[in-house]
Formats: sequence, structure tokens, C-alpha cells
Amino acid sequence: MEWANYKVLRFQPNARPLPAAKTVFNLPSKFLPMKPRVVIAGCGFGGATVAFNLKRLAGNMAKIIAIDSSEKFDYHASLPELAAGKIRESEITIPLQQMLGRKGIKFVRAKVSRIDFGKRKVITGKSSIAYDFLVLALGARTAFYGIPGADENCLEFKSYRDASKLHAHIVSLFRSCSNAGKASDSTKIVVVGGGLTGVELAADLADMLDKLCMQCGIMRDDAQIVLVHRSPHLHPALSEEVSAFTENYLRLLGIRLQLGKAVVEVKKGSVVLEGGAELRAKTIVWCAGIQPADAVSSAGEKNFDPRCGIVLNNYLQSVGDRRVFAVGDCGWGSTFETHPVLSYLRAVEHADFVSHNLYAELSSKPHRKLIYSPRTFPTMISLGRKMGILVFGSFYLAGLQWVWAKKLVARIHLFRFRTGLDFLEFADELFVSFIEFAYYLAAKGR
Ligand SMILES: Cc1cc2nc3c(=O)[nH]c(=O)nc-3n(C[C@H](O)[C@H](O)[C@H](O)COP(=O)(O)OP(=O)(O)OC[C@H]3O[C@@H](n4cnc5c(N)ncnc54)[C@H](O)[C@@H]3O)c2cc1C
Repeated sequence: MEWANYKVLRFQPNARPLPAAKTVFNLPSKFLPMKPRVVIAGCGFGGATVAFNLKRLAGNMAKIIAIDSSEKFDYHASLPELAAGKIRESEITIPLQQMLGRKGIKFVRAKVSRIDFGKRKVITGKSSIAYDFLVLALGARTAFYGIPGADENCLEFKSYRDASKLHAHIVSLFRSCSNAGKASDSTKIVVVGGGLTGVELAADLADMLDKLCMQCGIMRDDAQIVLVHRSPHLHPALSEEVSAFTENYLRLLGIRLQLGKAVVEVKKGSVVLEGGAELRAKTIVWCAGIQPADAVSSAGEKNFDPRCGIVLNNYLQSVGDRRVFAVGDCGWGSTFETHPVLSYLRAVEHADFVSHNLYAELSSKPHRKLIYSPRTFPTMISLGRKMGILVFGSFYLAGLQWVWAKKLVARIHLFRFRTGLDFLEFADELFVSFIEFAYYLAAKGR
């Protein structure tokens, strides 16, 4: 889709007056007996954006029910900072009941175990919830690729709970060393996976160790972070220059890089690498991969791809069932991009298209559905408190300002969800446009 058309899509929903729902005997729509039920499974970035957009677009035309196993929405991009103790949990989480309730959207806290696509029911541990239209937004879960011991002996890093647990784990190990008066495996951390998450986490933990060592009377050289990555370079999805810059900067922070080394086994207290080398550490964090949430695999062989999730058509509808849409990390039609960088901006982009197309399905008046084509987004990476990188295609800009830019984006997103103020979507869009413009000027000046 052209950029100009994209903008029209982003701002169209607010500009158009809400459509009137069908009336029977001139009764207001709220007295209609059977409103279509739109169930949104998963309230992360994708699901919450669909819920907000649809409420604004479709108003009382449909009953919107949002389901999530977590009680809080969390902003993933700030999880490394939470793990490093730089921010508090309350700064990056919002209770879902409050966030959705404010908009008049029903929230059900339950874990989706499977979907009965034939009977159109979402099966949760407690009950089953019928739907007329379903939006799958369950995100992804950690993939351990069957590596022996990885599941049992590694800490996951997917949610605010994981980040808080990791922080508490590291602090208690360092404090125990300070009491014992000597450093050991307790002061060693192995981060497995050199994608964006692993890189940001390692850099933030390096900042944390500087302080923690001082507080616990441990020599900084006795505390170590090792980042293990199976490819010879970090960031498989980004350019070689960005990888090289990041590698050099991480080394400056004192992080040991083990590149081109696959993990073959994880034991309690150690990681075994290809070739037999063993890294001993009491903290092992797994950031090496994700796979679509389990519940969506019930879509059946034809409609589900184990790598990409629900297989989608150009309207982001399941190829096997037009009543089912998918957004974000759990629905990625392999046809759209070969090496997608899964990001919340992508999830929000999906959500914008899906809410429009869903509205077109719900509306009594004819509305053209929008054909999805992915836009290229800038990627912001923060490498600790002093260095950030803005990546756009093969260009990148580095400096402290991008750390603050990333923080600002987080604040805008969270403030929008926290307050329910729709106009903040505009601020978010304005900011992304500003970054794109900065990139354009920088690229032109080269
Ligand atoms: C540590 C980390 C750092 C990241 N950093 C960045 C970054 O800097 N920039 C960036 O753009 N992207 C980043 N991402 C990726 C980004 O967060 C995701 O791509 C984005 O959140 C995907 O949105 P989503 O709606 O598909 O899934 P999610 O936001 O993951 O939401 C899925 C929701 O579904 C719920 N759920 C899952 N399973 C079930 C179930 N069975 N039943 C009920 N509910 C369920 C979850 O509780 C969650 O609320 C990061 C991800 C992680 C994990």
C-alpha cells in the first residue's frame, strides 16, 4: 500500500461519523436481541488495538469480548529495563480490566486452550465462549527447539512477570555472594540468543551489574555476561553494519560474545555449546526464539503453519474461515515477507487493517475491504543507558538520542492505552513520521 493511502487509512476511522446500527421497528440498537459477537483472543498490542479501533468504528453494532490469560497489558519493549531494575513494573503495565472497561469492552480473564472452529467457540479452562467473528491475537511463546534441558533450566523472557523474576533472581544471587565474600557462578549470566531481545537485555544487565557489584562489594571483573548466538553475527534480520556496530559496542560494555556457537544442551548451572565447551552460570536466560501460541494450532494443518501461525489471505483473514482474522505474532502469512521482524508496530499495523475489514463485514452498508501490504518500519534498539540505534532498511543512526526516542514512543503508547484517548494515536503516528523524516534527511546527507 502506498504511504499516502496508508495515512488515509490511519486517520479515516476518526473522521467518519459512526454508522447507525440496523434498527428493527425503530428500536435503538442496544435493544436488538442478537448483536454479532466479536471475540478477541489475546490483548497484547494487536488485540488491544483491534478492540479500541472496533469500539470506535462499530460502536454498538457488535458485542466485543476480549480474553486474555494475563491480568495486565505489558509493554514488551521496556522489559529489558524492568529486568535491570531501571523502571518499576507499574510504569509499563496496565490492568486490562481497567484499560478495556473504560471503553465499554467486556474483558474475560481466562487462558484459551483451543478454538473449536467448526462450532465457532473459544475454549478456555473455565468455559467456552461463542463467536460470530474471531480475532486471534495470542502472540507467540518461547521456542526451545527441543534442545535438551533448555525448557527446565532456562529463565524465559516474554512478560513482565519473567522480567521481574529475572531481576529478583540476579539480585538475590549477588547478595548471597556479598555475604559469602567471594564471586562464583552466581555472578555469571548467560543470555542465549542474539536477536533484538537478547542484545537489549544483555546491554541493560551490564548497566545493572555495574551498580550491583558496587552495592554488594564484588569486583566488576568477577561478574560476567556472556551472549551466545548461533550465527556468526548478531541480529539475523538486520544489516551487517548494524551487527558489527552492535557487537563492538557490547564488547565495550564488557559483554563476552560467543558467536557462531549453537547451544546443544542446558544443564542446571551450565550451557553446553557445539564442540563441547561449557559455560557455567547460575542465571541462564533464553531469548533464542519464538513460535506461535499453542491455541492457534487447532486451526488444522491447512490453515496453520508452525512457523508463521494462522495462514492468512490478503485481508488478514484465515484462508480457511472468513470469520477468523489474525494479527501480530500469531498470524503471519508467510506470503507477506520472507524475514519479518516481528514488532509491536507490525501488530498495530495488522490491527488497523483487521479492524477496518471486520467493520466492513459487520456493517449493513457495503464497505470495501482493505488489502494488506506491509510497510517498512524503523527499528529502534537500545544498548543500555547511553546508546541507541535507529535502523531503517540498510541505514542506521546511533547515539544517546535514540534511547530517549525509544522511551518516548513507549510513553505515548502506554499513555494512549492507559487513558483511552484516541487522539494519541495521532501523536504516535506523528512520531513515527518524524523518525522516518529524520532518517530521510540523514540518508540524503550521506
Ligand atoms: C522481551 C521483548 C522485547 C521486545 N522488544 C520489542 C521492541 O523493542 N520493539 C518492537 O517493536 N517489538 C518488540 N518486541 C516484540 C513485540 O512485543 C511483539 O511483536 C508484539 O507484542 C506482538 O503483539 P501481539 O499482539 O501479537 O502479541 P502480544 O503483545 O505478545 O500479546 C499476546 C497476548 O495474548 C495473551 N495470551 C497468550 N496466550 C494466551 C492464551 N492461551 N490464552 C489467553 N491469552 C493468551 C498474552 O497474555 C498477551 O497479552 C519485544 C518482545 C519481547 C518479548
